[in-house]
Amino acid sequence: MAANTDQTWTFFESSDMLPFFVEAYPFDVISPAGEKRLERLHGEVGITGVALWASATPFSAMNRFDKGAGMVQSSGGLLYAPQESDFEASRCKPTIADFATEHDSMRRALDVCDHHGLAVRFVASVLRGGGMADRYGEFAAINALGAKSRDCLCPSHADVQTYAGCLAASLQELKGDAELVVSDMVAGCDDLLCIPRSYDAVLLDTVEQALLTWCFCDACTSNAGREGIDVAEVKAAVQRTIGDAIDRGPRDECAHDAGPAMDEAMPAYWATHLETVAGLFETVQAKSGGEVIFAEENMCDVAAASTAALQVFVGSLEEFEDVSEENEGSIEIAFPAALAVAGEAADLTAALKAAVDADVRGVTVRHLGMIPDAAITPLKQAVRFARRAV
Ligand SMILES: [Zn+2]
Repeated sequence: MAANTDQTWTFFESSDMLPFFVEAYPFDVISPAGEKRLERLHGEVGITGVALWASATPFSAMNRFDKGAGMVQSSGGLLYAPQESDFEASRCKPTIADFATEHDSMRRALDVCDHHGLAVRFVASVLRGGGMADRYGEFAAINALGAKSRDCLCPSHADVQTYAGCLAASLQELKGDAELVVSDMVAGCDDLLCIPRSYDAVLLDTVEQALLTWCFCDACTSNAGREGIDVAEVKAAVQRTIGDAIDRGPRDECAHDAGPAMDEAMPAYWATHLETVAGLFETVQAKSGGEVIFAEENMCDVAAASTAALQVFVGSLEEFEDVSEENEGSIEIAFPAALAVAGEAADLTAALKAAVDADVRGVTVRHLGMIPDAAITPLKQAVRFARRAV
């Protein structure tokens, strides 16, 4: 255990703690300042583990802890160097981030966690890691208008399922008992929405937006065809709906709830897609050493079919309480560090108490590099209170 150099705090015994993770990139954890921050979060706040990004979507991140490095820009992909044999069985080979191999940052980050007695879990994007859809266009999601996603692979392809299995096995090789949080598993052409989310409600309502992201690639088409669904009709109905929206043009007001009634075959088509996602999840679970946690912004119905462990992202204290009340027993909650500053400390304490009362399995605060000093005290109070309530 590291020395408490400034003597301003004492270590918690973490065994009776609600699992409380901080999400981090490996490069944050290995920088001296990042490690110091982690040490403080562990000792003072009571963080019990680190959720390390292992397979990421393309990103730009401020490297707060290493002033010389400034920003880290990455095409994403694996943030560690896999064994050469890990992806032998897969036609899709992973993108590997340069800095991951250069500094062996993942292995060093694992050492840091081990040194401080922190649990480790990996966070992995399976379908959107490292611009894979751009490199393997033949496996990319394609929407009803024929536009191909440059961002998201479609899980209906057997090759994508194989890749996902290899990724899970590769992470197990890296650290056998680590839990795995899979993000971005519900495929879709989100990047084909064409307009920023914050504005598009004027042009497309939520149903129309969702339809524009549905995949109609060959693999999806034959999957649904085997279920007896008239895919041509579903596709035509989606095209009509989007066409009507384009003819209608921008609305005077945002429409969040309205939307056309879906044709009968539409929900059935979506259901086959969700089954595919559940299958992908099972593939990952079978190859993974530790428990697999399904993290998704808003697709809880998939997770319910595939796993008991679901991580839900909340962006406000109100959501925090709502989510914990609705999903007793089976969920984890992840929230941005900003919530500890933007909200009143007392509200965060109440929210975390509600989460504990609802028997959440764990809590994650995002993200190590973005946790301001001002958040430490509210976080500490909230965790202390939640700990008392356990
Ligand atoms: Zn597809």
